[in-house]
Amino acid sequence: MDLAKLRQDAAALLADGRAGLVIGFRERAGACVPAFVTDADQADALVYDDTCIANLAAYLRKPEIRQRRPVALVARPHVMRSLILLKAEHQLQGDDVLVLAVGDDTYHGVLTLAEAERLLNETYADLATDAQVLAEIERLEQMSPEERARFWSEQFAKCTRCYACRAACPMCYCERCIVEKNVPQWISTAAAGHGNYAWNVIRAFHLAGRCIECGACEAACPQGIPLMLLNALLAREARDQFDARPGYDAEAEPVVGSWNKDDDEGFIR
Ligand code: SF4
Ligand code: SF4
Repeated sequence: MDLAKLRQDAAALLADGRAGLVIGFRERAGACVPAFVTDADQADALVYDDTCIANLAAYLRKPEIRQRRPVALVARPHVMRSLILLKAEHQLQGDDVLVLAVGDDTYHGVLTLAEAERLLNETYADLATDAQVLAEIERLEQMSPEERARFWSEQFAKCTRCYACRAACPMCYCERCIVEKNVPQWISTAAAGHGNYAWNVIRAFHLAGRCIECGACEAACPQGIPLMLLNALLAREARDQFDARPGYDAEAEPVVGSWNKDDDEGFIR
């Protein structure tokens, strides 16, 4: 990947005012961490490799970032999908963001959101779910309901309710999350039992048909809970049942949230 060109583009965007901020990655203590670059002279600190997995689109909802729009963002294909989906959900305008587009060993240059949407559909239209995740979903599907419930109870028992998964996810942008509503209190906030189960399942359902499978939530979870099993399962269902391909069409309506009079009602008894 042409890192020198990415740095050069980032510096040029800041120098000529096309971007008020570049969000990318830098190296710290051997790890790839988010970088917030406001000065063209700092652009040489930007790095990129396969370990840069945070979804930087999650920062776009923060007020201090919004003030600096237009913002340029280093984005791999999954992250580009989140940008397109955020636009589809009216969380972004077309000129709020520029994309420093990185792909498989390639740097595609500076793109507008419309150009990023075109690139996704032409080059990255079939981003496959991780094979290991699919194999584990299949293994779970072979289990009895009791075995599967035990598996998830053991996983969710580890949850400390730190909400790092929510903070890492670009699609978790509700101003007030259901878990913080206490009149009435829908979900127990204690890090235990049914409250943990409810939190993780409700979050996964809220992302159904909206999750672009970037993996940032699972990577952020300090407890190693395999959140992508839930996310990928619901993404598969949304795709198979409703042909949902979130993040490929900035005009698409969300699966959960749109209604058609011809929808199948066979599940209503
Ligand atoms: S829920 Fe989906 S979109 Fe959100 S961080 Fe996890 S994988 Fe990415
Ligand atoms: S990041 Fe992990 S431990 Fe923290 S709330 Fe999410 S699932 Fe629970």
